[in-house]
Amino acid sequence: MTETTSGNLDMPTCQEVALRLSDHLDRALPLRRSLGVQAHLALCPNCRRYAAQLRETLGLARAAGQAAPADEAGEAAALAMFDRLAKKGA
Ligand SMILES: [Zn+2]
Repeated sequence: MTETTSGNLDMPTCQEVALRLSDHLDRALPLRRSLGVQAHLALCPNCRRYAAQLRETLGLARAAGQAAPADEAGEAAALAMFDRLAKKGA
């Protein structure tokens, strides 16, 4: 008998989150995986801290000249949602 609190959500482990995080921040993950990462981050302070660091690193890389304006706006919206989810779990 198996019982999970997350129902059908594909909840990744910390290790999987670490591997998927940059793709998640790039919105390169399938929605289902992306939601799993977000759910994990909402529950896991360690991964939240890692995500914040990675996001900063990615932000710096983009500021260095890779960003397209439209992409930046989309990312800001995604990250705002991400922050709300993270704070909810704090
Ligand atoms: Zn974690």
